[in-house]
Amino acid sequence: MRLSQHFRLSEFTRTGTGLPNQPTDEHRLSLRALCVDVLEPLRAYVGAPVRVTSGYRSQTVNEAVGGSATSQHCCGDAADIKVSGWSAEELAGAVIDSVNNSRLHQVIAYHPTRGGHVHVGRGNGRCQVLYRAANGAYQAPPPEQVADWVDAARRRRAGA
Ligand SMILES: [Zn+2]
Repeated sequence: MRLSQHFRLSEFTRTGTGLPNQPTDEHRLSLRALCVDVLEPLRAYVGAPVRVTSGYRSQTVNEAVGGSATSQHCCGDAADIKVSGWSAEELAGAVIDSVNNSRLHQVIAYHPTRGGHVHVGRGNGRCQVLYRAANGAYQAPPPEQVADWVDAARRRRAGA
């Protein structure tokens, strides 16, 4: 099933746990909104496929992978993503630069030893930006650093 022009439901329901991972109708609508509001604008911005490394998580899958009990992944409101050739910082900058920030709840860039991906959560405009460091700590980068991520995304996009 297609959720939007470039994203299929199967990309969001893959799990290595072997456990059932089918979203409810309500959660499927949330996944569609995540694609339309967040991932499609991002894909258009980077001009390359956005790979979903973790999308939807049923409660059983979330428990099996040790996810937070309040994880947005369990409602279809979040995805962990990567784009080939883009660092997590560059990709987080691309999210902030391409997605209407009123649609964002959280953007988290992960250090390479923590997966090197970006977690993006759709929401109400809280737009919290975090960095997960090598030691596992979550840090709120200062605005100058977030601006550097956006600059890096613009340079990467321009092919510089
Ligand atoms: Zn995540």
